[in-house]
Amino acid sequence: MMIRIAHLYPDMLNLYGDRGNIIALTDRMTRRGIEVKTDAITMGKSFNADDYDILFIGGGQDFEQDVLLDDLKKGKDVEINKAIHGSRVVLAICGGYQMLGKYYKTYDGKMLEYLGALDFYTEGKEERMIGNFAYKTKEGIEVVGFENHSGRTYLGSQVEPLGKMIKGYGNNGEDGTEGVRFKNTFGTYSHGPVLPKNPDFADLLIKKALENKYSNVELTPLNDTLEEKARNQVKKLYIAR
Ligand code: GLN
Repeated sequence: MMIRIAHLYPDMLNLYGDRGNIIALTDRMTRRGIEVKTDAITMGKSFNADDYDILFIGGGQDFEQDVLLDDLKKGKDVEINKAIHGSRVVLAICGGYQMLGKYYKTYDGKMLEYLGALDFYTEGKEERMIGNFAYKTKEGIEVVGFENHSGRTYLGSQVEPLGKMIKGYGNNGEDGTEGVRFKNTFGTYSHGPVLPKNPDFADLLIKKALENKYSNVELTPLNDTLEEKARNQVKKLYIAR
């Protein structure tokens, strides 16, 4: 079995080590004998979503998000849209997550028109939402992480939230939702990076990517002792919050 990953803007969108998500995915697949190939899709480089099983977009600050906008609209927008609506696995973090929606209006009034691939929008406020946090997905996976964003995201009726907040702010600090979910696309505010300390979430993405390609996919269990230690450390932090 083989999985191909497209890593969008690895040099620009890599806040709080979001690249660790690629490392976690690769590690969990190679330990199971699945071959993984990752391509860096940087500014100026075009790509075809049909060539990939997983698309990953990390987080960035308002500045990077603004700088990337032109490049995004030179074809990557079409390919990302195609991946999302074609049920490819897409994981997008914070600023990368915001880019999948209709727009992001920064706290200082700058309007960034985004892909509109998914039914949500984001508006920034000066007061940032920062801290260790946790939420639960519909599968019952408790995702632990760290959030730091000025943007408040509001979901429309065409998409579901990725999870319900257990602790922290999530999408907007008001409605108890976190992230977005649509087909096999997952957007979240969780940095840190999210997958190394949330192995069940990582495996959910891996399983969906494999199921798109192969029949009878069963993931062999891995020893997650270290991952559990990392989770417990974050839990201690957010419980103390
Ligand atoms: N610039 C966005 C915000 O502040 C995203 C930040 C991030 O990726 N952490 O809302």
